[in-house]
Amino acid sequence: MFCTNCGSSDSSLRIVSCDGEKTELCEECIKTLIKDGEDVKPFVKLSEEDGNVFYILGKCKQAIKRIWSEEEWTKFRDEATTGDYDHVLQTIMKYFDVE
Ligand SMILES: [Zn+2]
Repeated sequence: MFCTNCGSSDSSLRIVSCDGEKTELCEECIKTLIKDGEDVKPFVKLSEEDGNVFYILGKCKQAIKRIWSEEEWTKFRDEATTGDYDHVLQTIMKYFDVE
């Protein structure tokens, strides 16, 4: 697999949604696009059994590892966990491409 932006084939490739389209990019390109203000959402796959908020947030954290800064993650987590379970999911869908 290759980064669809720079063509690199390193091990850091991630699936993200960029302007609403799923694509595979390397961590560096994802970070650059986010910095440029592009609408890039890390992809996270959740299943029916994922009813535990902390488990779901753990999956999200995995998806943004080395892409978001610790501050960005904390800001998202604080926003996500200020309400009930539905609010958590809504916040995740705002920042992530959820399947
Ligand atoms: Zn790249």
